[in-house]
Amino acid sequence: MQTIHAQINDVLPAAVLPAFSEFARLLDLEVATEGETMSLKMFSGSIDLTAAKGGLSLRLVAENERRLYLLQQMVMGRLDRLEPVPQLEWERVDAGALPPNLSIATVTGIRQISPNVRRVRVTFADIARYAEDGLHFRLVISALPPAQASGGSVREWPVIDASGRTRWPEGDASLHRPVYTVREISPAEGWMDFDVYIHHGGRVSAWTERAGAGDRIGLMGPTQLKRDLPGWVAFLGDETALPAIAMYLRSLPADASGQAVIACADLADLQDLTHPEGVQVTWIQRIDSALVSALKAMTLPASDRYVWFAAERAEAEQARDWLRDTRGLTKTEMNVTTFWSRSEIGDSI
Ligand SMILES: Cc1cc2nc3c(=O)[nH]c(=O)nc-3n(C[C@H](O)[C@H](O)[C@H](O)COP(=O)(O)OP(=O)(O)OC[C@H]3O[C@@H](n4cnc5c(N)ncnc54)[C@H](O)[C@@H]3O)c2cc1C
Repeated sequence: MQTIHAQINDVLPAAVLPAFSEFARLLDLEVATEGETMSLKMFSGSIDLTAAKGGLSLRLVAENERRLYLLQQMVMGRLDRLEPVPQLEWERVDAGALPPNLSIATVTGIRQISPNVRRVRVTFADIARYAEDGLHFRLVISALPPAQASGGSVREWPVIDASGRTRWPEGDASLHRPVYTVREISPAEGWMDFDVYIHHGGRVSAWTERAGAGDRIGLMGPTQLKRDLPGWVAFLGDETALPAIAMYLRSLPADASGQAVIACADLADLQDLTHPEGVQVTWIQRIDSALVSALKAMTLPASDRYVWFAAERAEAEQARDWLRDTRGLTKTEMNVTTFWSRSEIGDSI
């Protein structure tokens, strides 16, 4: 376990604690109050806030340095919303260092695997960390619009500043950090693949055209694949969710049952997926609300069930409303996520 302490001086606890109660409420976190200490518990670790003379003392505990850093960023993110921003002092700050959750990866190849999908292979030092059920990560590349960007490498890395915050490069060096998914990984051979669905106007799509072997990019993460799934599972998603569905289907026990429905605008993007015999995989054309219609047509068991749905925002919202309000699924029985949003001016698909 890793621990770090901090102090906020010259502040009334009542000016700060409600911000953390609200944070806990939003994220549905476990909160405990004992004496002068409020404790927040979450997947990444715990945050204790204790009212002390003239201010607050903080104690953050996490399994490793990366999670501890994420907790620190979370705390500062909450404080930065207050007016005036309370001054927080960490017992130690590794100013000038790279954020511990950033891996610098080298591209070893990019290939077109189907009409609208490019597979990127990267290698990096701490790849074993991603092999332990790693699922999603933030891809860190140049944020410049395709017409202005040149080369595939990141020019300047984010660093930890004197206050402990991540300082992101600005101007021409600013960085884009969309979320992608591990598709295949071999720590023994030292490579990891991720698939990019090519779409009109996408900065990552354009990056896959100009990048090549030797380019250096950033990866931040990963989040973890959920293992303890019930006996019946359903996975529904579009092209952007295909890598995650592939990872889940491969991780299921041999006796799992359920369904997977994948919607593609172009069915030539269909892939061979490894899955248990009891999970039926169906490919559908991505038109109108086809995924939501497929969800509504499913016969869900009354218990021991889990529905995972990921697609464009409007579809994800419809799916969440229907699962929760019409079918009465609880939070632990479903995971519905927006994987991308149509821009206001409209996208090509
Ligand atoms: C948890 C998670 C995991 C994901 N995993 C993957 C993955 O493995 N592979 C993958 O390809 N995507 C994945 N995505 C989706 C990806 O992060 C988004 O599509 C992201 O917007 C791509 O960034 P961009 O730079 O290409 O687009 P931007 O430059 O940010 O946006 C440019 C334009 O493209 C539009 N746009 C964004 N995505 C799409 C789309 N899919 N179709 C049509 N228009 C779009 C935007 O509305 C905007 O107008 C994932 C998303 C999440 C949340």
